[in-house]
Amino acid sequence: MTTKKPQYVLSLDLGTTGNRAILFNSEGNVVSQEYKELTQHYPQPGWLEHDPEQIWRDTRLVMYEALGDADISASQVAAIGLTVQRETCLLWDKTTGKPLHNAIVWQDRRTSAVCRELIEQGYAQKVQEHTGLVLDAYFSATKLAWLLDWVRQNQPDTNLDNVLAGTIDTWVLWNLTGGQVHATDHSNASRTMLMNLAKGDWDTELLDLFGIPAQMMPQIKPSMGMFGNTDPDLLGASIPITAIFGDQQAALFAHGCDRPGLLKCTYGTGCFLVAQTGKEMTRSQNRLLSTVAWSKAGPEGAIDTNYALEGAMFTTGACIQWLRDGIKLINSAPETDALARQLEDTNGVYFVPALSGLGAPHWDMSARGAFLGITGGVQREHMVRAVLESIAYQVKEVVDAMNKDGDTAIARLKVDGGASQNDFLMQFQADVLGIPVERPAFIDATAQGAAFGAGLAVGFWEDYDQLVATSKVGKVFEPGEGAATAQGNFVMWQKAVERAKQWTD
Ligand code: ADP
Repeated sequence: MTTKKPQYVLSLDLGTTGNRAILFNSEGNVVSQEYKELTQHYPQPGWLEHDPEQIWRDTRLVMYEALGDADISASQVAAIGLTVQRETCLLWDKTTGKPLHNAIVWQDRRTSAVCRELIEQGYAQKVQEHTGLVLDAYFSATKLAWLLDWVRQNQPDTNLDNVLAGTIDTWVLWNLTGGQVHATDHSNASRTMLMNLAKGDWDTELLDLFGIPAQMMPQIKPSMGMFGNTDPDLLGASIPITAIFGDQQAALFAHGCDRPGLLKCTYGTGCFLVAQTGKEMTRSQNRLLSTVAWSKAGPEGAIDTNYALEGAMFTTGACIQWLRDGIKLINSAPETDALARQLEDTNGVYFVPALSGLGAPHWDMSARGAFLGITGGVQREHMVRAVLESIAYQVKEVVDAMNKDGDTAIARLKVDGGASQNDFLMQFQADVLGIPVERPAFIDATAQGAAFGAGLAVGFWEDYDQLVATSKVGKVFEPGEGAATAQGNFVMWQKAVERAKQWTD
């Protein structure tokens, strides 16, 4: 029997709205891809859960299908790169492999009150100093604490020594390796509010504060390095898993943002503006997050870490999904582009996209979504357009915050993600920012970043810069004739935001 030399890298991009597998060839081009939308469970207002078993089932399915479509066997795959929605976390029993509860998704606000209490008790500064994060329900720490409480109350016979905790990368890695490896990477760990940013390891003081037993936590490993091999029974041969990134960090890597001053904005469920700060752990004066960009395994156990500053906006594409699935104002996300273009403006309507509270730069867990300025002449299309415009306004707020933090103003915005396909939104974004917006030809930068990382770590590719250079620019949106109006209306939108803040207090 002859074994063919590995010619491909498999990227698993496990996002908030769906799970995707993409197979890349040695030129960095896509050979095949498969996607499955993920069910969103809303058990109560402000709560959002995912079924971890569905995530693992769909991951397996898209992986099989992507390989099958291209008629490629596991032995032809050099490595797997894994990138996931961040902060979403779960507990499972290592003896049964069964989750103890659904995963609590990053957008979930059920632990807002606990966070507020901790802020009142004066813990915000300590959390910020240790983790680089703003004390908020967004991160995993209070979600894991909630899950543990739930288990203690509802399944009191559970032997906690058998319980493992993890974010989605950890859960899927554990399953991919047949229960052999319980690990995560620095970029995902830096989003849990339990990792000490300077040390790159779990912070014992914070584990105590949130009541999380250290033995439940995964080992933190470099984002690019050996995590383990897939169980041979899964795909017929073992494949090494050699990169794990949080989704936003993977996109940053794909865009080639490896030096201070380079940044990107991903338009997915939320919008995430991330700026590389190099080997420096920069602290923001404007409520942006300090986080790990990625880490690399060096010789003799050395770890080489890059950091980033981030502005996280929770609900952007999620508002489009709500227009489709919640209030059923549209049938599909892409149709919002044509609907918005049918009109000159929003007829005075402003939308506040605070469906899960507001992230950067407000950090208001109790803000809620709102349409303001409605009069009798307002039609469906105006409301759809107002939702699209609100996405661009949010990004402008964060670009302004980044500009205040940095020495040099942002001169160009590189974008990617599902909602960046919307030409109306991208043009409006360029108009309201007054700078060009650059969209690559291949917008799944997240998946691409995980593939690049895994292929480089295993020596399948050698030159990062060359790899990044293979990505082509798709379209550049220059600020146009709508710029003055868009920038003027931004002020009105900010007024609307003020009305929606502190709503549930
Ligand atoms: P995630 O990784 O967070 O799951 P994706 O990058 O896959 O997100 O993008 C999916 C999001 O993009 C969904 O929230 C969807 O509503 C939005 N979206 C997809 N296509 C469009 C479009 N043409 N216009 C506006 N929004 C879109």
